[in-house]
Amino acid sequence: MDQTKKKAFRLLREVKSVAVATVNNGKPDVRIADAMLAQEDGLYFLTARGKPYYKQLKENQKVAICGMDKNYVSARVVGDIQFCNDRSIVDKIFEHNPMMNDLYPGEKRDILEAFHMYRGKGEIFDLSVEPPERERFAFGGEAVNPSGYRITDKCVACGICLDACPVGVISEGEVYIVDGNRCLECGSCAEVCPEDAVEAAQGM
Ligand code: SF4
Ligand code: SF4
Repeated sequence: MDQTKKKAFRLLREVKSVAVATVNNGKPDVRIADAMLAQEDGLYFLTARGKPYYKQLKENQKVAICGMDKNYVSARVVGDIQFCNDRSIVDKIFEHNPMMNDLYPGEKRDILEAFHMYRGKGEIFDLSVEPPERERFAFGGEAVNPSGYRITDKCVACGICLDACPVGVISEGEVYIVDGNRCLECGSCAEVCPEDAVEAAQGM
């Protein structure tokens, strides 16, 4: 498994209670849910068929998930989901999350459906180090965008952006360079550049 993806999935499993965002009649909706199973092929969650959450997922099979641990390391993943026809995945999720037996004992688990985020993009943002570090990954055939602002050939090496950067991740050169994995994506460098030489970050 891609090491960044593995780290992100592990973090979401350890944080356990993560925010899961969906779309509800064109508006954002969010709830806390447990990241119940992380495998090479993606993340698995459970929900009950009667919940608005379930209906939203049926209507729009996309979710965004994020969580942060006690060290201020966060992970987020956005992607596509599908419901699992194979009921054995529900049993597997119960094996990995035994407290579910208290909530849905015995056959009561039959109301639950497992969904699988099988394709997506993600990012780990580590605020425990200085400057913060950003790592991206993709899975299931998605491609990842490079992180951070980017300085283009229009740069005349005047140096104004160096002072504007709060975390010191711009290096001098004929064309100045941003360390994209450590860039906060705050945009200060772009605002002060007299040559319009700085391109905004693309997002995941
Ligand atoms: S402010 Fe603009 S032109 Fe000046 S060094 Fe930075 S990127 Fe280059
Ligand atoms: S976007 Fe912000 S953090 Fe990134 S290089 Fe520019 S000033 Fe620095």
